[in-house]
Amino acid sequence: VLHGSALESQSVRAGSDLGPGVWLFQSPLWQTNCLLAVLGSDALLCDPSLTPQEIVALRTQVESLRPSSEHMLITHSDYDHTCGIPFFPTATVVAGEATAAAVADGSAARKLEAGAREWQLAWPWSLRVDPTVAAGATLTLGGFLVSTIEAPGHVDDGLAYLLHEQGVLVAGDYLSPISYPWLFGPLHEAIGTCERLLDLLARAPVRWVVPGHGQALSSSDAQRVGEQDLAYLRQLESRVSDALSAGASPGEVLLRAYSVEPPRPATPDFEAYGLRSWNAQRVAEQLREAAPG
Ligand SMILES: [Zn+2]
Repeated sequence: VLHGSALESQSVRAGSDLGPGVWLFQSPLWQTNCLLAVLGSDALLCDPSLTPQEIVALRTQVESLRPSSEHMLITHSDYDHTCGIPFFPTATVVAGEATAAAVADGSAARKLEAGAREWQLAWPWSLRVDPTVAAGATLTLGGFLVSTIEAPGHVDDGLAYLLHEQGVLVAGDYLSPISYPWLFGPLHEAIGTCERLLDLLARAPVRWVVPGHGQALSSSDAQRVGEQDLAYLRQLESRVSDALSAGASPGEVLLRAYSVEPPRPATPDFEAYGLRSWNAQRVAEQLREAAPG
């Protein structure tokens, strides 16, 4: 039995009000965000998280609303984003096809299980996705009008969601003001996701961007973060490509990749995992494999 984590003893925070019917709940660990939106008698959650205690408190809040419909958006298969699913057995869980595949083949549950050991938190591991949705779709979920944006690159799966009437973009693990891109998926996909999110922010009226981690941002602040992230990712790409085409050794390629300055400091709970070094190794590896010959 896993219990007794120091995380569990931290007090549950009240949601911050983002304006009509939208509340942001943030866990101290990685400043992980979850969103609750209410419209009439319809409730919509996104990535409910993080500790069981926090999730149960959120559930109590949702139950007190007695919603006539309850939907849950999941951005991607990492455990800090899927851990709330089992706590809401009556919610309709919506995720992208690749995320649903990671749930179906057990890889999302294995990540959750590893996270449960790492933090000694007792999450149930019974994940599910109800309807899968395509990227670039617009859906009606209860009274909510939601568009999906393809968002892989941080990991191999991912969707961002635009809540039209609320003017809220839920970005998944991109556009974070307290961290920077962390590459478990392909670099070119992370670049593509950054470009798509920036493109959306340039043309859609968005009041709030809610990243997976860190405070909610105005559209212009999020665009600034996104442009910095994109410059970092492109610089990783160009320095490694240049080194590879100059015939540099694997060690030299790694040092060239590591020499790219991250766009901002990450909080210690991210930096402890060595993002800068991880990204340098991943990009050096990925581009070497992709290089001709
Ligand atoms: Zn995350």
